[in-house]
Amino acid sequence: MQIFTTVRDLKSYVRDKKKEGYSIGFVPTMGALHQGHLSLIEQASQENDIVICSIYVNPAQFNNQDDLQKYPRTLEKDKDKLTGYDNVQLFLPTNQEMYPQEPKISFNFGYLEHIMEGKHRPGHFNGVGIIITKFLHLVQPTKTYFGQKDLQQSLIIDRLIKDLSFEVELVICPTVREKDGLAMSSRNQRLDKEQRGQASKISEVLFKAKEMFLAKNDLGYIQQTAVDFLKDNGIKLEYFHIVDQENLKEIHSIEGVHKVAICMAGYIAEIRLLDNVLLEI
Ligand code: AMP
Repeated sequence: MQIFTTVRDLKSYVRDKKKEGYSIGFVPTMGALHQGHLSLIEQASQENDIVICSIYVNPAQFNNQDDLQKYPRTLEKDKDKLTGYDNVQLFLPTNQEMYPQEPKISFNFGYLEHIMEGKHRPGHFNGVGIIITKFLHLVQPTKTYFGQKDLQQSLIIDRLIKDLSFEVELVICPTVREKDGLAMSSRNQRLDKEQRGQASKISEVLFKAKEMFLAKNDLGYIQQTAVDFLKDNGIKLEYFHIVDQENLKEIHSIEGVHKVAICMAGYIAEIRLLDNVLLEI
């Protein structure tokens, strides 16, 4: 596996491979790689001649300095995991490489940045927009892979690609879960044993809400049941929304909506976890 730490080396590699007509799959990550990340890399590896995986904890998308500092970093293990694929190369830039000067550009994703993650993490999607724009310029991928786990992010990236006319296909991959349903996440590493038990309640409540929805329960009742259940299990809920998958607008009735997402974020101690389930009716 080749490891590029500078923009210059990466650009030169991409230029050569493009000349040779290779397709490039791109998987941006913040590292502490788990099976969820690897599912994206696996798919990218099958669908492209070359894959570039980036590992970069992007300070611009953290609105909480403590979260940034405590974000798990397991670089040596990550490298071992990536060497299992023969067409995957790693982009491992420093802050200096990505931000030689403070970016002055800012994005406005409209409604999408005022709800859920956008509302509770001010500036987060601006930071995501900046780093992904930079990466797409540098990597010039044929396809780029993101997880459904970060559903709102995937809608933001879809807008970014369309609004800035990037010639890249966006592929959204399903959420990979632990045996008990907990969505895999780098932040799960920060949970102690008791908290790990609590964390499984997040997917449990989402699956339960999905069942209740399909059984045509009242949406207010579903919401209240979920809120109470999470509170009883010591999870400090930030939001729990039943939304239209296409635009993430909250729905208040089952009528007229076909693709629904149930999205939530909450805290176990100071560790923030988010998850969602999709359903079609
Ligand atoms: P992150 O390192 O958290 O920024 O995630 C990098 C990419 O992996 C994002 O597109 C995430 O949505 C995706 N991802 C994270 N967790 C999972 C998971 N459990 N299943 C599938 N994709 C995931």
